Amino acid sequence: MKTLSDIDFKGKKALIRVDFNVPLDENFNVTDTTRIDAAKPTIDKILNDGGSVILMSHLGRPKGVEEKYSLKHIVAKTSEILGKDVKFVTNCVGDEAEKAAANLQPGEILLLENLRFHEEEEAGDDAFAQKLAKLGDVYVNDAFGTAHRAHASTTIVAKYFPENKVFGALLAKEIESLDKVLKNSEKPVTAVLGGSKVSSKITVIENILDKVDHLIIGGGMTFTFVKALGGKIGDSICEDDKQELALEILKQAKAKNVQIHLPVDVIAADGFKNDANTQVVDVNEIPDGWQGLDAGPKSLENFKKVILESKTILWNGPLGVFEMENFAKGTITLGEFIAEATQKGAFSLVGGGDSVSAVKQFGLEPKMSYVSTGGGAMLEMLEGKTLPGIAAIQE
Ligand code: AMP
Repeated sequence: MKTLSDIDFKGKKALIRVDFNVPLDENFNVTDTTRIDAAKPTIDKILNDGGSVILMSHLGRPKGVEEKYSLKHIVAKTSEILGKDVKFVTNCVGDEAEKAAANLQPGEILLLENLRFHEEEEAGDDAFAQKLAKLGDVYVNDAFGTAHRAHASTTIVAKYFPENKVFGALLAKEIESLDKVLKNSEKPVTAVLGGSKVSSKITVIENILDKVDHLIIGGGMTFTFVKALGGKIGDSICEDDKQELALEILKQAKAKNVQIHLPVDVIAADGFKNDANTQVVDVNEIPDGWQGLDAGPKSLENFKKVILESKTILWNGPLGVFEMENFAKGTITLGEFIAEATQKGAFSLVGGGDSVSAVKQFGLEPKMSYVSTGGGAMLEMLEGKTLPGIAAIQE
């Protein structure tokens, strides 16, 4: 894996694909700087080496040039975070960008306008990628969130830097963390998969059955399994057409010696709302008119044992409808178990969308070994796919 330490950036111009797709409020203030903060180590390292940096990113999903998606709105915040002046050009390719890049001195930072103002970006257009490539001497990809897209700036551009393309610090960390879970993992390895549907996680389940010792299944997915096994699930969420698949997964798990742990009890509610009436019931005995919205206390006790014995833990998807306070306990408690296991030396990776928001919301982020920055990209890696943005650097 070629990383920043493989290149001496002194006197070089690094063209860095970052993910500065940050949320803005109605006055165009950045409301969450996580992604800019996350790119800082890579930028600092290159500047400290005596290089200069050209930052390129997308923002939102503009149709052509749309002022509200201009990266000019984030110049001040980026400058504040990096502690340096940030120059800006109003087009990511063409004369203005080329001139600004050519004049860039060691230690200086240039931010290019939104890549997606050109439809060639998402189309993965070769000529457009070549124009971007003209701007720098070294290509650095540090945008994990878009690494699963074969766009001009994330993938195609890399071929114009056959000897000078590397992973940025953030992307390298994502790859290393996933490798620690799926390749060089210390046993026992446990995956916790939650969320709403079996159908959106099926490829992940199939891929990780080869890598884990324990699989904890929670969240809305539970009920497709429980119904397939003959349990009564009341009005709980269920994908009837996936029942056979659920049984097939259980069969495969058995053949692969993977222990599956399903909830044994649930917090059932008489409506899909926070102030619904609730009762704790056996997962197989949910009355009609009631639906399981969170894991129950016995389930959490069982999960605790598995988690605390694990040396490697992967968590994707909440155990209940954590957006509603009364059904967040399972997800919070699971997060606390994982935090405890991590403190005792286990490696824990949280990735893929909603579990990341849950971990952040409940203040558990610092207690996990690594929290992934890319939802879709992490899911595709868990599915065992090679991401085009990663392959392009490795080729
Ligand atoms: P996913 O995007 O597939 O990871 O699913 C995340 C969503 O699953 C969250 O919005 C949760 O509210 C939802 N969820 C978790 N458990 C349940 C459940 N028992 N019933 C309905 N939705 C659930």
